[in-house]
Amino acid sequence: MSLKVYKFGGTSVGSVEKIQAIADRLLSESNHQHVVVVSAMGHTTDQLVTLCDQISLSPEPREYDALISTGENVSAALLSMAIIEKGGRAISFNGAQAGIYTSQGHKRAKILSVKPDRIKEELEKNKVVVVTGFQGVTFGNDITTIGRGGSDTSAVVLAAALGVPSCDIYTDVDGVYTTDPRRVSTARKLANVSYDEMLELASMGAQVLHPRAVECAKENKIILHVRSSFLPDEGTRVKENHAMELNRSVTGIALKRDEAKLSISGVSNAPGVAGKLFAVLADEGINVDMIIQSNEEQNETNTITFTVSEGDYLQAKRVTEGMMDALGARSVDGDTNIAKVSIVGVGMISKPGVAATMFKTLGDHQVNIQLITTSEIKISCAVQSDQADLAVQSLHDAFELHSSE
Ligand code: ADP
Ligand code: ASP
Ligand code: MG
Repeated sequence: MSLKVYKFGGTSVGSVEKIQAIADRLLSESNHQHVVVVSAMGHTTDQLVTLCDQISLSPEPREYDALISTGENVSAALLSMAIIEKGGRAISFNGAQAGIYTSQGHKRAKILSVKPDRIKEELEKNKVVVVTGFQGVTFGNDITTIGRGGSDTSAVVLAAALGVPSCDIYTDVDGVYTTDPRRVSTARKLANVSYDEMLELASMGAQVLHPRAVECAKENKIILHVRSSFLPDEGTRVKENHAMELNRSVTGIALKRDEAKLSISGVSNAPGVAGKLFAVLADEGINVDMIIQSNEEQNETNTITFTVSEGDYLQAKRVTEGMMDALGARSVDGDTNIAKVSIVGVGMISKPGVAATMFKTLGDHQVNIQLITTSEIKISCAVQSDQADLAVQSLHDAFELHSSE
């Protein structure tokens, strides 16, 4: 009997009826053993965050995780109950019971090891094992969460620990598209995407997969099959490169809306200045993304501009303002009205002119580019938030992503 590992996202377990439908589906496949990872029902996690905000805007991270991890406990227990009620055998486990051990860093803890002994014991007893996504436990026995959207990663680490070569991610879209199909009607479903491209798309804001899930799948050569919980269609397989990808210069476009920009002006044009600023930001745990430095006043001073996620903006602004004297700076300006648009494709390595097409397309649509970063297979531009949709749509058209592979 082969073992299957699945993950069902929030919409897929969003009601009692949907949970019962998953139970029916699992029971109809009695020729397999099943490990099922579930997210919290619907928008439960958002509601828990809202509840938290009413008590404290800077909660103790341990208590924050103790709260926002609970949504998954509800859906796991309900799915297990539904299977039992229908005559099947099942057991639900939280992250600790499933043996998912993480670092201490609450809210964005890293999974360090998985000890699936109890899962294996229950599979031996022919039970469906339902595991809470998104949560783990520290070696000191505190509950942690692994970052929003993290249930995908929970499923992939379990597949890796159990030696299963693929993992089905059931969600509310029927695969990975060239861009978010809820925002661009001409987006096209991709049959296959390489790990590297998917990792860039996910890291750059394509919500459909958690970036660490893709990373872990790549490390363990696990094929991810992203598919709809509600339609029987074939979804998208995320796996090693395949030849088709090299024919297209751009595979997909991602958008991250919650970005913010900070500029510190009048800093001296001397060695070590940028190092001092970014070391302090790093010490505060602030992730800096795009950076540009421009000269002012005949090269004597510089302006350094960088982006951070909107959630880190106030802290980053405080830290940067605190560095003004040390850097001899004149002013710090901020803007939270920033989004990042990224084009991704392994084909761009061998095809010249991709950046030129991106910049010209944005220019033709009067979208001003504020910052640029690149990697071998990605070009990202920071733009004004209210031009982000226009930017994505026009790039999707310019690279003809609607037409078939
Ligand atoms: P789940 O709750 O199942 O984990 P998510 O909401 O996290 O689902 O992810 C699915 C959503 O990701 C889709 O509803 C879609 O709006 C969004 N999305 C963003 N970019 C893409 C893309 N390139 N392909 C498919 N979906 C995308
Ligand atoms: N419930 C968590 C969230 O909303 C984890 C997940 O759905 O993957 O972020
Ligand atoms: Mg998700």
